Amino acid sequence: MISYEEAVKIIVDNTKRLGIEKVFLDKALGRVLAEDIYADADNPPADNSGMDGFAVRYEDIKGATEEEPVVLEIIGESKAGGEPVSVKPGTAAYIYTGGLIPDGADTVVQKELTKVEDNKVFIFQELPKGANIRPQGGDYKKGDLLIKKGKRLRPAEIGILSSVNKPTVYVYQVPRVGIITTGDEIIDVGEPFERKSQIRTSNTYSLYSQVIEAGGEPVIIGFAKDEPEDIERKLSYAKSCDILLTTGGVSVGEYDLVKDFVVKVLGVEILFWKVKQKPGKPVAFGVWGAEKEKLFFGIPGNPVAAMVVFENMVKPAIRKMRGDEKLFNPVIKAKLKGGYKRKKGERLEFIRVALELTDEGFIATPFGKQGSNILTGMVYAHGFGIVDVGVTEIKDGEEIKVSVFDTSFMEGEKI
Ligand code: AMP
Ligand code: MG
Repeated sequence: MISYEEAVKIIVDNTKRLGIEKVFLDKALGRVLAEDIYADADNPPADNSGMDGFAVRYEDIKGATEEEPVVLEIIGESKAGGEPVSVKPGTAAYIYTGGLIPDGADTVVQKELTKVEDNKVFIFQELPKGANIRPQGGDYKKGDLLIKKGKRLRPAEIGILSSVNKPTVYVYQVPRVGIITTGDEIIDVGEPFERKSQIRTSNTYSLYSQVIEAGGEPVIIGFAKDEPEDIERKLSYAKSCDILLTTGGVSVGEYDLVKDFVVKVLGVEILFWKVKQKPGKPVAFGVWGAEKEKLFFGIPGNPVAAMVVFENMVKPAIRKMRGDEKLFNPVIKAKLKGGYKRKKGERLEFIRVALELTDEGFIATPFGKQGSNILTGMVYAHGFGIVDVGVTEIKDGEEIKVSVFDTSFMEGEKI
């Protein structure tokens, strides 16, 4: 059995970034940029005013004071989007934020330092030459590199793309992730519950949602019984996916058929099966497709195992395919409240913890029931506390590394 670290290395090393595509700006949020973005022109395109006030010549307002103001004739106005005007010695122009600096003017005096009477402006203070002027190219200059390839696009980057006149942008493609749910006992939401031995699915929809959160495009392929014909048929629908996720049927039981059938139907080359981790030990991983560019994850059926395997193994693969440079969830150090004990330390264990940010830093509280079938533990949790191989006890208040999949615990305080 391989270690968790080896497994993740095999996944990352065998995951290839997808090709690129053009999208409109309104569809670009969260996508990863596949081109460098340069400025098409200077911004601002010309000197303009940072204030409402008067555009003047510095020479004219030199020495102006409260007691001995300078008086200038008002000869026009410059507003944002308006026509250029010019200022001659002894004159000034009204100017508004964003208005072009008139020819001849070199300084803007804010309204608060002036008074207007009979088309004349009184200036009560000398300002340094150039005051309140936003110079041409002060934000960026034509040809500047503004955003580098590989950046995940946020609203700020999308604003820049629009300001450099790009209605479309090249981004990396997003993987299509097919989900097949297996198990004779599994019924879909909305189906009648007929026998006590039935289980209504959670994995189908938790995985579907995790794929969206990770930036992939999920597709529910269907539900398969633990029967060769049904598994074969459902797998044959998976061919157009970049990543295939199956849940259930990868353990050692008589009915755990998935691993053998992905080899037969899709030509998957299995690269590992079983990892020294808890939960999620019987996970299988392989590559398939003409250039082994597609991935297969055989995810165990236990609901918590499925979510843990997704966060730690599937998410990094989706992120790599979609061009993201950061593949993993953030890891923080927290104080473990109440401590944690286990009998054996053979496997790396992920314990579900709720997180709080306090004056003493992060506090992690483990959920009482840590079984891999206890889905309510996931509802409670913001992260997975990492209990390393060889460790059997972490005492109350001791530090634990936590891989955080939900940062909402830090939200909500009014500023
Ligand atoms: P398996 O990996 O097929 O051996 O399943 C392990 C456990 O997870 C069994 O108790 C299953 O009933 C349960 N399980 C399998 N698939 C699902 C699912 N889609 N939703 C909820 N529980 C499941
Ligand atoms: Mg099963």
